[in-house]
Amino acid sequence: MAQGKRCVWCEEVMNSVSWEMFSFFEEEWNVCNECKSKLAPISGEICLKCGRPLSKVKREYILEKTCLDCQRWVEKSFLNGLVHNRSLFEYNDFMKHVLTLYKYRGDAEVGRAFNSMFSKTITKSYKCIDFVIPIPLSIERLYDRGFNQCDLWLEKVPNRLSNCLVRIHHEEKQSKKTRQERINRSVKMFRVSNDDLIKGKTLLILDDLYTTGTTAYQAADALGKSGAKAVYSLTLCRS
Ligand SMILES: [Zn+2]
Ligand SMILES: [Zn+2]
Repeated sequence: MAQGKRCVWCEEVMNSVSWEMFSFFEEEWNVCNECKSKLAPISGEICLKCGRPLSKVKREYILEKTCLDCQRWVEKSFLNGLVHNRSLFEYNDFMKHVLTLYKYRGDAEVGRAFNSMFSKTITKSYKCIDFVIPIPLSIERLYDRGFNQCDLWLEKVPNRLSNCLVRIHHEEKQSKKTRQERINRSVKMFRVSNDDLIKGKTLLILDDLYTTGTTAYQAADALGKSGAKAVYSLTLCRS
């Protein structure tokens, strides 16, 4: 039997370990170079609002370094705004695979590989933040899965605020929704359990994936209407 530390994602033995590719990662990162090379960290010019690489957006859809989706969100004045979203990685096939292992097979160690990356990013880039709020799952989903993947990423973040935001709109499978329900974005997804905790505070919400922005904008809206001063969003991936 081979000796040595095993990669928490592919379970291969890690022979040589080098860290030149990602300065984010440190010695405790139990992921092999092969797996690491399949990730796509977001770099280069991004949409100032949602953090999507501008190289993926058609040129005619960019206005003042903001993509078309974000220009549309700005027009939805019934929602309290989000300052901006930033994401660490592109949502490529390998990341989908890693998140499946983590979320649906319930392998917490697979997800913990991102913990130090999140805490370092928050310490370094979000100095103005009072609290970090993991996007909650609905009670039903939490019961099925046994843990909230975003909450686990913040295990070592001292200013995590876990039970303040509550999901009231149960996320159903897309197939169960009618087209009308899918496009109706005014359905409230969240409520705040204790307004006093967040009044006048600057907040960072944390989620696994930013796709259309609905979750982030809905969360920011609920927090803003409960008195938060400003809401930022950070996600592991941007699809
Ligand atoms: Zn590996
Ligand atoms: Zn954008």
